Amino acid sequence: MGVKAIAVLAGDGIGPEVMREAVKVASAVAARFHRSVTFTEGLVGGAAFEEFGEHLPKETITLCTGSDAVLFGSVGGPIEQAHLPKWRGCEANSILSLRRSLSLAANLRPTRIFPQLVEGSPLKNSRVDTGVDLIIVRELLGDVYFGEKSSWTSEGRRYARDVGTYTDEQISTVVRVAFETARSRRGKVTSVDKANVLQTSKLWREVVHEIHAEYQDVELEDMLVDNCALQLVLDPGRFDVVVTSNLFGDILSDLASALPGSLGLSPSASLGASGIGLYEPSGGSAPDIAGKGIANPIAQILSTAMMFRLSFGWQAEANAIERAVESALTEGCRTFDLATRADTPVSTEEMGNRIVERLP
Ligand code: NAD
Repeated sequence: MGVKAIAVLAGDGIGPEVMREAVKVASAVAARFHRSVTFTEGLVGGAAFEEFGEHLPKETITLCTGSDAVLFGSVGGPIEQAHLPKWRGCEANSILSLRRSLSLAANLRPTRIFPQLVEGSPLKNSRVDTGVDLIIVRELLGDVYFGEKSSWTSEGRRYARDVGTYTDEQISTVVRVAFETARSRRGKVTSVDKANVLQTSKLWREVVHEIHAEYQDVELEDMLVDNCALQLVLDPGRFDVVVTSNLFGDILSDLASALPGSLGLSPSASLGASGIGLYEPSGGSAPDIAGKGIANPIAQILSTAMMFRLSFGWQAEANAIERAVESALTEGCRTFDLATRADTPVSTEEMGNRIVERLP
């Protein structure tokens, strides 16, 4: 069975606060299921800059590449301090570089509207109370984010260009992740592109259909990205697995993260060729609430459940965490972001403790 080594990069802002609770829950589950795990902390983001003068020191990369999985918090500082060296380029230098170092090609972001929290969704209950449980699989290493970038001036006009490129291999890698994911869920994939306009999308659609031949048990539909944005708001319950390119996935997954009513609920996983998965909440470092002990640790805790399931194959352990979260919610445990006027909000630590108490 062996010991699973987990690199813990808490980062900035609320990162260390919610990470503490996630490690607490993960340790308790490991102990109950007689699993051996080690947690080794590393510095990243502004926290690393203070110590090493860079956002992703090589010590941290070495820690990650020598681990079985990476549990990531969040990085970045307050927007009004973005010009300071500590924060300038912080996100790009740390999380984007780490994604490249670990060849993380696919990002999986589940969105669930918990029945206990249906009132908190920004959508009308009639749109969401039939159950929303979808996962967005986003390609992470291609598209305009990684292509040639340039800007220039000519004859008094300013120009800028970002080149978006995809290879069939990049597309098939992420599309396979989507089909495999659908097999373990409700068996439906929606492939999102802009094939009526973009060359990269035409290739995307072609490759999706080629790979689909190997997954005939999975239902496939194509959808244009503009329609997908509309459908995510009008009828989110219709989706199971959504697979899409880097830029579209960036935007659609943030839209989907809003549906449960708080960013503090949505975990994510990034997977790739290195075999070392990286697990992090969908939200950022939330400087507006950092240091107050009030952040919602659920997204970070559910990220550990994804790590147990996807990196270690520990289904029962992952289920135990997810059930404990639901059980704490059913009993009315709410951090401030989830609380209605009738609730007395609990602290970050209290939410972590209540989830540990609900473990089987
Ligand atoms: P954010 O996600 O940090 O916060 C947006 C809003 O959601 C805030 O009001 C915040 O209080 C709330 N929120 C987020 N997580 C929460 C939680 N767990 N519990 C309760 N409320 C929560 O986004 P932002 O304010 O735009 O960015 C803040 C910093 O985070 C910036 O420096 C940005 O660059 C960085 N960021 C980092 C990552 C990452 O590390 N992957 C992702 C996004 C943003």
